[in-house]
Amino acid sequence: MPDQSPRPSPLDPRPSIYRGRFAPSPTGPLHFGSLIAAVGSYLEAKSQQGEWLLRIDDIDPPREVAGAGDAILRTLENFGFEWDGPVTYQSRRHAIYLDALATLQDTGRVYPCACSRKRIAESQAGSGNKSIYPGTCRAGLGPDQTPRMLRIDSRGPAIHFADRIQGPCVYELETELGDFVVRRADGLFAYQLATGVDDALQGISEVVRGRDLLDSTPCQILIQQRLDLATPVYAHLPVAVNQQGQKLSKQNLAPALDTDQAPALLWQALNFLGQNAPSELRNTSLDMLWQWAFRQWQPNNIPRRQTIQT
Ligand code: GLU
Repeated sequence: MPDQSPRPSPLDPRPSIYRGRFAPSPTGPLHFGSLIAAVGSYLEAKSQQGEWLLRIDDIDPPREVAGAGDAILRTLENFGFEWDGPVTYQSRRHAIYLDALATLQDTGRVYPCACSRKRIAESQAGSGNKSIYPGTCRAGLGPDQTPRMLRIDSRGPAIHFADRIQGPCVYELETELGDFVVRRADGLFAYQLATGVDDALQGISEVVRGRDLLDSTPCQILIQQRLDLATPVYAHLPVAVNQQGQKLSKQNLAPALDTDQAPALLWQALNFLGQNAPSELRNTSLDMLWQWAFRQWQPNNIPRRQTIQT
């Protein structure tokens, strides 16, 4: 008789096992910085016999590059990554984000904002290099004002989380980050909304990603709390920077990963993550490197640094 016992689907929102994810935006080819996040999240999942989901964060068409999503999948395959279940695309989840927005609006803690970027930058609280929205439209818009975007009212208790690499973090959202946008002036869903909702609804138990996203974490946790959703554990990896100290990115002309060099690049990524992969493994096969990494992965050896020069 076939086994009739219920089996958790790959998208069971409450996994009993570890579930991680890699969530690249299709804004260009993967580079060494993206490889670090992919390798770190993959090995955390594999070393715990967990699942590793792949999600393409394609919610921002103006920033997308045609064909980049498919190229990312091919590159990951050529590096030997194996993901569980079908690839998820944020562009196909608009109904979920709309639903989440409606629920947030029901709480009365989301409001339309009519301020332009210029106006926020000119406001007192917006001085310095980071503009923090001072809550101007929280009390409602005047009859001659046109709503541009939706913001979440971030007032409330501080957000605490224990980052597994960066240590304990506390954010006073209102003063440190301000009321952030959940639906943009161009009508698109904001990254914080889509990611906070997806990580929770996909049952991700641990989010492993670059330290450059640390400041997004309290925003995503706030969204999860307001929607009564589970919050994953977070681990923010050091970020790869170039000689000038700039994060590797398409804007800084970081070279695309060369799949012909996959073993050497994987070896380099493992050592970036403090894993001491022996030099004789540098020129072996991908398969041997992965086997070594699955056995030897030591998350405690990941440097507790914000950035590392490559
Ligand atoms: N899609 C985001 C990016 O590629 C990362 C999202 C995340 O890991 O939370 O930068």
